[in-house]
Amino acid sequence: MKAKIKYYITDDFGNTCFKGKIFEDYEDAWEYLYLKFPVIYNDDGTQDDQEEELNSYWVEELTITTECDYCKSTEVTYNQLIMDSYCSDCGRWQED
Ligand SMILES: [Zn+2]
Repeated sequence: MKAKIKYYITDDFGNTCFKGKIFEDYEDAWEYLYLKFPVIYNDDGTQDDQEEELNSYWVEELTITTECDYCKSTEVTYNQLIMDSYCSDCGRWQED
């Protein structure tokens, strides 16, 4: 099986977050979180770096199949909702 590593975000309970959004790099995923929860600058000069929010997320590795196990086609697309890859040439799911 040919595969590559991507990254996705989960919460404290291991649930996939942000509709299973996939990131190329570990750093990309964190960048996304920092944009989601930016530092808040209060009027009184204090700031809130939303550490509590950020600490409730985890960046996990995800192995994505890039070549069909059955027909060796590279027309494999990853479905974020069910976290499996589908080959559009032979019509099979890779985790079968
Ligand atoms: Zn196939």
